[in-house]
Amino acid sequence: MKPQPPFCPNRYCSCHWLDRSPELAEGTWFVKDGTYSPDSVGRTQRYRCRSCGTRFSDQTFRLDFAVKLPLDYPTLFNHQISGSGIRDLARIQGVTDKVILNRISRLARQSIALHARMRAYLTLDEDLVADGFESFTWSQYFPNNIHMLVGKQSQYLYGADYANLRRKGRMRERQKRRRAELEKRFLPLPGEVLRSFTRLLGQLRRYAEKMTRSQLCLYTDEKQEYRRALGADSVELPEGGRLIHIRRSSKVARTRHNDLFAVNYYDRELRKDQANHVRESVQFSREVNNCMERLWVYSAWHNYRKPYRIGGRGGKERTHAQVAGVKKKQVEGLWEGFFYRRAFYSHLVLTESEQLAWFRAFRSPMQESRPPTLQYIAA
Ligand SMILES: [Zn+2]
Repeated sequence: MKPQPPFCPNRYCSCHWLDRSPELAEGTWFVKDGTYSPDSVGRTQRYRCRSCGTRFSDQTFRLDFAVKLPLDYPTLFNHQISGSGIRDLARIQGVTDKVILNRISRLARQSIALHARMRAYLTLDEDLVADGFESFTWSQYFPNNIHMLVGKQSQYLYGADYANLRRKGRMRERQKRRRAELEKRFLPLPGEVLRSFTRLLGQLRRYAEKMTRSQLCLYTDEKQEYRRALGADSVELPEGGRLIHIRRSSKVARTRHNDLFAVNYYDRELRKDQANHVRESVQFSREVNNCMERLWVYSAWHNYRKPYRIGGRGGKERTHAQVAGVKKKQVEGLWEGFFYRRAFYSHLVLTESEQLAWFRAFRSPMQESRPPTLQYIAA
């Protein structure tokens, strides 16, 4: 049988929904509508939906949808985990920074989609650790907290969110004046840490809809906002479970025996592997949403490709997702097509944090105009 288009790309058409359209199952919902030959991929079949009249092509379902200059996605992906900066990559590939950012944007959506789909196979069976990774965007005057929720045992990244912070601490007079000047153009909103952490808890609750235990612990450091976001030391979870909040001092030695080890580990790996977070680097992120996209690409590597703690005890061939309880077959099944089969937003069920990343909706310092968004984001 010849390959067929999987569904109508128009989400307002019944043939967009795999579970709602008998024509879709029968393969009678479209007609062939000639071919065209874009420079990038050569001869491509076009189609028309018989139900809504939308015209589309095989290219519509590819990660390279509307791309004129194809780049090798696995190479780009590997560069996101090996400390390469955007400019290095652009130079190596002989393209502009913008092209690289566009392709990373595509990989980020693949990563978010993969993460969201993996939820169906995950039954929460471990305690969790959350923390705010400290970095900055645009300049040191705009520090941030990138909140992360990580499995205490598996080191699986369950969720991530972003909060802009106001620069505090000791500053010279000159620096204070500079800050005041910059803050006329962008002021982090009060309570961003609290809101961001609250969204992260929303992410946690999504996982807690399926859990094997009657209670689980969330370890954090002693930051006030975490306690405030939870509202109590013990809170109810969906399906009658309970979440116990346990606070640990962040000053305790960062060894493997530290209850916050899982986030400390993720923090260390991220700083080592992603150029924009390397301390004292000149390659820091200029834009919050680009920063989050790169984080999601990194998490796809960390969760679904990278072996669980190399050299650690036991199971060195397992991925972090497997340690969190997803079967290898399921991880591999969902991973298939990562570099070429385009994920459609309408087919996903995303959490609030994931939606903010998908739509590039985090507030970013000094963005006078919104960066161009990808044509396929809202599909
Ligand atoms: Zn249609």
